[in-house]
Amino acid sequence: MRRLNFVGLVLFSLFLALPLDAPYAQQQQSVRVATTTPAPSSYFGSERSAAERITADEMKEILYYIASDDMLGRDTPSPGLDKTAQYIADHLKKFKLKPAGDNGTYFQHITLSRTQVDRENTKAHLGDKAFKVGEDFLPVGRVSGDAEGQIVYAGHGWVINSKNVNAYDGLDVRDKIVVVSGDGTTPPPGLSVENLPGTDWESPVSYAQKHGAKALVLIPRNFERRWRFGPNALTRSTLSVPRLENAAEDEDEDEADAAAPKGLVEILPSRAMLSALFAGEQADGARVLQASTAGERLKGFALSPSKRLSLSVKLSVTDASTQNVVAVLEGKDSALKREYVALGAHYDHVGTDNPGCRPVGDDKICNGADDDGSGTTSLITMAEAFSKGPRPKRSILFVWHAGEEKGLWGSEYFTRFPTIPLKQVVAQLNIDMIGRSKKAGDTNPANRMLTGPDEIYVIGSRMMSDELADKNVAVNSAYLNLKYNYHYDEPNDPERLFYRSDHFNYAKHGVPIIFFFDGVHEDYHRPTDSPDKIDYQKMQSVARTIFILASELANAPSRPVVDKQIPAEQLAR
Ligand SMILES: [Zn+2]
Repeated sequence: MRRLNFVGLVLFSLFLALPLDAPYAQQQQSVRVATTTPAPSSYFGSERSAAERITADEMKEILYYIASDDMLGRDTPSPGLDKTAQYIADHLKKFKLKPAGDNGTYFQHITLSRTQVDRENTKAHLGDKAFKVGEDFLPVGRVSGDAEGQIVYAGHGWVINSKNVNAYDGLDVRDKIVVVSGDGTTPPPGLSVENLPGTDWESPVSYAQKHGAKALVLIPRNFERRWRFGPNALTRSTLSVPRLENAAEDEDEDEADAAAPKGLVEILPSRAMLSALFAGEQADGARVLQASTAGERLKGFALSPSKRLSLSVKLSVTDASTQNVVAVLEGKDSALKREYVALGAHYDHVGTDNPGCRPVGDDKICNGADDDGSGTTSLITMAEAFSKGPRPKRSILFVWHAGEEKGLWGSEYFTRFPTIPLKQVVAQLNIDMIGRSKKAGDTNPANRMLTGPDEIYVIGSRMMSDELADKNVAVNSAYLNLKYNYHYDEPNDPERLFYRSDHFNYAKHGVPIIFFFDGVHEDYHRPTDSPDKIDYQKMQSVARTIFILASELANAPSRPVVDKQIPAEQLAR
């Protein structure tokens, strides 16, 4: 599962998305236990015996391979991730599942772009004074270019019509370089945006761009932290998915690949650069910096017209690639087989020895056994169980997503450029972390929210379809009767779990979803998330339950009714 971050805010910034430490939710967990008496073992008939092909022993064998040190933490992109993709594809071939990626293969190819600052050719001047990249300023956008002009300070830079907020009031930014307090995409304290961008509000960046500004100088609230880590990042490259940066749903792949990144040159100034820019102005550099880091509102103004800033930012961009793994088990009903029940997991993790994977002693490889080796493994064993029959009426779609940890890339890519018609997906069941359980007597606060051996969090099941949620409850109470915990079943929960895994992108496209999750634990995103810590009996129980639910959905006379949509403002976040 993805680390807590502002999913949905597009952070066009090289250094902005520094990992945050996920705070634990404060609420007490509330457990709703299904009270129905378990039905006799004849219930679900042949589905039950098919589910029993999913065994703890086989799961253990697969997971020990996927979460081995050989995979080096399955970063996106990496040889270890490609090796895992091939391992999944080899199984699918053996199970004789239909390839549903590109050109009759199991792989849906995703082109990535690697950006690095060209230090030699990245420069800034204020009149005759030269600034040094890495010391006086850092490029923070993904756009190369030259800009020269007078300077305007635009305060926090937000325009929110419904709240009568306009930081650009009285300022002309055309052909100017705009200095903004903030990171350009996160509203300042006390201001939030609920309605849709463009109509009700403009971010500092989008306003500047639409009104002819030439470049942006951003002073984020975490200025100090950015300067502590930023210069190191100059020597590293950052990744993006070019095809996802174009908002259009239906553009041609070749055009998207050819399109240059849009936007303005953006830099982070140093204290010294701010002092030089604001020398002799109504607020000096120290005052502007203080207001920026405190989130205090300072009114904008045009700087002395004699000051002209020139920026030249050069980024080198190279291609890289990764892939989703996609397969279909074709349904047996000639009409219903055009519809799909989707099963999803993410097979990537956070790699080795990087800011997202903190070493534990000498161990620097984040194996991701639970996250999401457990879901990846479950999907493989479910694919095998389905392939041996009986064949359900609807088709089953299996997607192992890449790049989940980078920002739900694989699921965004699949749902925007699906290889089967997405409207024909009747539900998506996302399995991300189902292998850990809290041991009796465990008092470690880091395991406070971890579910017990017979318990699992069920998230989002009622957000779009009561019928889907009811079916999930009915299957569980008539089968293994696990404790379904709905604690996180609330889009406004501070942990924001609804936004933090791949199901979110399916929900965004109108597909009703259920997210199965065991809870954050002491080994989350650490090298100690290893296969020896997994509760394989729990994995087996949860995977078998999801298998029966998927079978029931695939055999039902009609698809689950979507009786509500997720409000647009929640999806825009
Ligand atoms: Zn994760």
